Amino acid sequence: MPPASTLPTALAVMGNELALAWSDGTEQFISLRALREACPCAVCEGEPDVMGNKVILKKQLTDESFLLKKYEFVGGYGIQFFWGDGHSSGIYSYRYLRGFSNE
Ligand SMILES: [Zn+2]
Repeated sequence: MPPASTLPTALAVMGNELALAWSDGTEQFISLRALREACPCAVCEGEPDVMGNKVILKKQLTDESFLLKKYEFVGGYGIQFFWGDGHSSGIYSYRYLRGFSNE
């Protein structure tokens, strides 16, 4: 687990990837498509219903859904991404991003 002090020092969209540089000197490339599909917000992630079953409301994703319009740092622990289809409720913690793979 990376130390909590590892912070993103640079962030840029390059083609269909997000390039992230971290304060420990590592670089990371994340496909925007994979990033959006892994949106951690309650709508995308699904919430347990009263029976404890996970309900996932799969929204129709379009090409717009994978366009990264802008981003904002949130509370020193994560990044909020604003997507082309207007979706922006997912906050990706630094730790989540660090452990992200494009699978
Ligand atoms: Zn979401």
